[in-house]
Amino acid sequence: MIDSLAAAYRTLYGWLIADRDDVLVVSHVRPDGDALGAQTAMHRIIQKLGRRSAMVNADHPPKRFDYLPGYAEIHTVEALMSRGPYRRAVFVDCADRARIGDVEALLSSDARIANIDHHATNDRYGEINVVRAEASSTCEIVYDFVRAVGVAMDEALATALYTGLLTDTGGFRYQNTSPKVLHDAAELVECGAEPYSIAEQALETMSLPQLRLLARVLGDIQLYAGGRVALIEVTAEALREAGAELDDTEGLVHYARNIEGVEVAVLLREQDEGIKASFRSRRRVDVAALAQKFGGGGHVRAAGATLAPPMAEARARVLEVLRATLSNPEEGKR
Ligand code: 5GP
Ligand code: MN
Repeated sequence: MIDSLAAAYRTLYGWLIADRDDVLVVSHVRPDGDALGAQTAMHRIIQKLGRRSAMVNADHPPKRFDYLPGYAEIHTVEALMSRGPYRRAVFVDCADRARIGDVEALLSSDARIANIDHHATNDRYGEINVVRAEASSTCEIVYDFVRAVGVAMDEALATALYTGLLTDTGGFRYQNTSPKVLHDAAELVECGAEPYSIAEQALETMSLPQLRLLARVLGDIQLYAGGRVALIEVTAEALREAGAELDDTEGLVHYARNIEGVEVAVLLREQDEGIKASFRSRRRVDVAALAQKFGGGGHVRAAGATLAPPMAEARARVLEVLRATLSNPEEGKR
């Protein structure tokens, strides 16, 4: 491990044990497998270090992650209101401070923050920032921390960390699947993580409403820019008719990206807070840069943003930027 990284981990360790204040461990709105894996892992690590912490997210964790250690202790903002405000917080998998959503209400105005993340767009909002854009997942960073400072591994910790490696690499398929990720995963399996049952729950199991939603929106996929852009829209009405929830839109965007010849896939969802866009690219376009044009962020191959409604206008704005990106031979190449 390079020295500066080892120093960063020692600083984080010192920060965690320096103070006896309860630490709030938070991940982003609509948390995914990496967010929840890193969150439950950090919570467990803090307990092992003999300090107290509590987990909270703005949105409920999806049920398919209920095997994670401490899943039932991931609180809603409301449940922790009487215990706050918190003066220290660890943020995991959050590219910017706003990603925690309503959890902000639990933090004191002078709250001290440790920021552990792997998004290239991270704006280093913490007092401590362990930000590594080359890492496959926040869980990979947390696992490096575990090894660097010598936290005792156990099966529960291995299960949490493996979940983030698995989900953020799309089942060890995306471009972020490095030799190190595969080595780390093998070690975590040796420590007790069960690849089959974790993959079955985190990746493969679909609810019936989710499948109904998929069937409905697949028929309406639209291609643009000579077939290089594929777009899926999920209206509030489509969700209602399928009996689906917003979490059930997870993974839809991959069907669009998988179409032969498609470079960029876009999923637009009607939500209360606006039109949520998910962007995925195959090999060329930097969708993190694209998302930033709409106030969002993410990774080179997977990013997101929230646009102003209505759907038709959000679609027009996205397509305009995408057409310009794709017609410029320099921009968007990576
Ligand atoms: P998804 O499309 O699955 O919601 O998100 C893809 C990636 O982009 C994830 O790494 C996620 O954290 C990031 N992302 C999604 N939406 C936003 C956003 O509004 N702001 C930022 N900064 N990142 C986002
Ligand atoms: Mn992540």
